[in-house]
Amino acid sequence: MRSVPLALYLAGVCLAATTVVALDFGMASPTTVTWPAAGAVPAAPIPTSTTPTSTPTPTSKAGAPPLDTFRSGADLPPGPAFPQHGTGTWRVVPASAGATTGITYTVEVEDGVVLPHGDNSFAAVVDHALRHPRGWAGRYAFRRVGGGVEPELRIRLTSQQTARALCGFELPYDTSCRVGPIVYLSTARWFRGAHTYGDDLRGYRIYAVNHEVGHFLGLGHEVCPQDGAPAPVMMQQTLSVDNDGLASITTGSDQGVVVTPDGKSCTPNPWPSW
Ligand SMILES: [Zn+2]
Repeated sequence: MRSVPLALYLAGVCLAATTVVALDFGMASPTTVTWPAAGAVPAAPIPTSTTPTSTPTPTSKAGAPPLDTFRSGADLPPGPAFPQHGTGTWRVVPASAGATTGITYTVEVEDGVVLPHGDNSFAAVVDHALRHPRGWAGRYAFRRVGGGVEPELRIRLTSQQTARALCGFELPYDTSCRVGPIVYLSTARWFRGAHTYGDDLRGYRIYAVNHEVGHFLGLGHEVCPQDGAPAPVMMQQTLSVDNDGLASITTGSDQGVVVTPDGKSCTPNPWPSW
């Protein structure tokens, strides 16, 4: 049995959760934890369906145009099956000795999640994102470590349902998040990507790593600054790269940024810029 301490939710989740369902792994009934209580939007229940494409359709707010008028949608794209459930524990992908300085991180995969090309296929993308000169490596040094070393940052591939429990599901879209020193990357998105990135699954995966690590580095959400510009890596590109779309999708949910529906539309971009 494993419960999730409330304190873990007090910093920097990608989708700011006002209500979080903490799964009691291995038990039949989830435990609901509300934070904060006042005015919270009721959390969507953890679906029991095994159909990954049955993402609920959000109700349009009065006066807001329907979501399908926007270039991108926040729902999960169609695609291959992916691991939906895990045990709530993670295995560390072994790492060979390398750099001796830098922010230490582990790459981990949730137990019960099997990757068709092995755990190293996940680790390779994470390493690429964190070591590429266009990424955070331009400002920060990172050093991957294996098991037996307490890292400063953990990057965990996490099953869809565990990610929903840990990241919150206030907005009914599968997302990844960062909670304290741990990044949880949802298998739903890792396998399916996002409409905003189309067929560029690798680009989306790099975006997801860089976005959540950006939260770890202390950064909050941003919006599209200029029509036609590359989207900031800290924009919630999983949901939309258009300010109008993002404003509509996140209406009523505090995402740590004010999104003005000003018609500005950016292009997907997985890399930070400075
Ligand atoms: Zn975020």
